Amino acid sequence: MNRRTLAADIGGTNIRAAIIDDTGFVHKEKCISAHLSDKNITEQDVIQILTDFFNNFLKNKPKITAVGIGFPGFFIGNSGVLASSPNLPNLKNFKLANMLSDSIKLPVIAQNDALCAAMGEFHFGAAKGQKNLLHITLGTGVGGGLILNHAPYTGEGGMAMEFGHLRVDQSSSARLCGCGGRGCIETYASASAVASHYFKLSSIQLNSKEVYEKAMQGEYHAMNVLEDAGHKLGIAIAQAVTLLDIHTVTISGGLIGAWSFLHPAIMSSLNNQLILPMQNKIQVLPSILNDQAGLLGAAALTRL
Ligand SMILES: [Zn+2]
Repeated sequence: MNRRTLAADIGGTNIRAAIIDDTGFVHKEKCISAHLSDKNITEQDVIQILTDFFNNFLKNKPKITAVGIGFPGFFIGNSGVLASSPNLPNLKNFKLANMLSDSIKLPVIAQNDALCAAMGEFHFGAAKGQKNLLHITLGTGVGGGLILNHAPYTGEGGMAMEFGHLRVDQSSSARLCGCGGRGCIETYASASAVASHYFKLSSIQLNSKEVYEKAMQGEYHAMNVLEDAGHKLGIAIAQAVTLLDIHTVTISGGLIGAWSFLHPAIMSSLNNQLILPMQNKIQVLPSILNDQAGLLGAAALTRL
């Protein structure tokens, strides 16, 4: 039987939902704006916003077997309990899956959004057919998800894969990160880091997409910024795969539009950093699902 799942990808300013079947086919999709990042938002507000949206989205009563939610924040194992969320400080130990399930009368699975993106890429995207995956998201921050032996890995307190805070610069001039540390990969390869690094070099304010477009046109500073981001990403990937012996890495986010600059820089520093038996064994691939990865991964989680 080809089951259908309601999948949702929840961000600070919008919520996307889709009906997805076992093959990964998206039957219906809708995005609404919702300001969940409002500091005063309560658990009840979140449940009400999601319930109203989902009931409206499902009003023709398609047969749905389960709901999968990707949400920004740290989840405790597979419990569906959000321990905390950096952008939604009011929500602590929030029983998201249970409360939403009671409200919409369907089984609900909830998990970290980057881990959902990893699941999407693993089941339906660039890493289909692999056994393990390290997935990296380059957005406002740098995040990631880990699949070990076909299963998502969250760590004991939901904090596994804080990839963005791997240290890639130990020098005294290493950049200050939002986490309070210095030299984190996030300060080199996030969209905001790329834009600010470019501004420092050129005194021109562009967003990350404009920077990679400049690089594609051969502009010197833009090419430098992206090559540096790729070089630092290679160092961080080397740290992670050296620990885990994972051979497949996927990367999603707007910056992969500049893959022709990022990829050679990543591979050269990655292979430089790796111990000899691992050199040239790691494939680093651009996401083929991009902003659909989270939705498809949330759907895949309901089928575990
Ligand atoms: Zn950091």
